[in-house]
Amino acid sequence: MDTKIVRGMLLGLATCDALGVPVEFASRYTLKDRPVTKMIAFGTWYQPAGTWSDDTSMTVATMESLYRRKQIDYDDMLRNFVRWYDKAEFTANDERFDVGNTTRASILRYSRGLLPPTKCGATDDNTNGNGSLMRILPAILYLFGTRGKISVDELKIIHNISALTHAHPISKISCGIYALIVAQILSGKNISDAFAAGINDAKTFYGNDTEFKAFTRLYENFASLPEERILSGGYVVETLEAALWCLLNTNDFRSLALKVINLGGDTDTAGAVAGGVAGIIYGVEEIPEEWLSVLRKRDWLEKMADDFATVC
Ligand SMILES: [Mg+2]
Repeated sequence: MDTKIVRGMLLGLATCDALGVPVEFASRYTLKDRPVTKMIAFGTWYQPAGTWSDDTSMTVATMESLYRRKQIDYDDMLRNFVRWYDKAEFTANDERFDVGNTTRASILRYSRGLLPPTKCGATDDNTNGNGSLMRILPAILYLFGTRGKISVDELKIIHNISALTHAHPISKISCGIYALIVAQILSGKNISDAFAAGINDAKTFYGNDTEFKAFTRLYENFASLPEERILSGGYVVETLEAALWCLLNTNDFRSLALKVINLGGDTDTAGAVAGGVAGIIYGVEEIPEEWLSVLRKRDWLEKMADDFATVC
């Protein structure tokens, strides 16, 4: 795969993650008064400007496994998550300052060594945070790059990768819908055509699943919904909707990034989910240099992207 696409994906994802980190959990109301317009330091996690979080770490951990193993290796992916969780590998400042509850529980279950990797993820209704959606993008690029499509077999793999931490059908379908839309973008469609085709495909694959009704809003003139109806908390369906809605309602990387972050709530993750796709659409050259220049470990991220591109 073209290194430009992969660099765009990773740097777009990391940039929007980093823009969101200082205002994670800030309300939309607060951000209307004082919107994010640039990379800032401190805030929610007291980190230097340009610090990206678990979203980027787990994305890179997934990429590194795919690059080194040159295949889908669920055990190896989870071992990389353990390296991140225990040893702060794949982090911006050699410190792991955050982790989602469901992700932590799944990594700890795996660490005990009693369960196969795809049985470690949580399945309860209340474990549908956005923790698998935020790290799934490299798997989509890898599968599309090596197989030229995202169809039934590829969706099964996407579901399994989600299930390393998030095994509830709603989490798995969220990753699947995202994959179907990204595949359309990688095929050369613009965002609105890719969205239309992707959710049409989703209906084909998931239309008979009861859990699919959680996604009905995507089918009701979604792009035209007013901002008040777009929620941006940690629930995976909200994150998917917020990211897609912002992608559909902006035309350049900067506007996308600021729109998604200033929705508030789980800013860094909605940012990561939208920013990775925006990086693919607009290209790495459209990411503002003033943001890239403060991104922690930028050179290392670029190297990871270039390496990963060779196996896609
Ligand atoms: Mg985060």
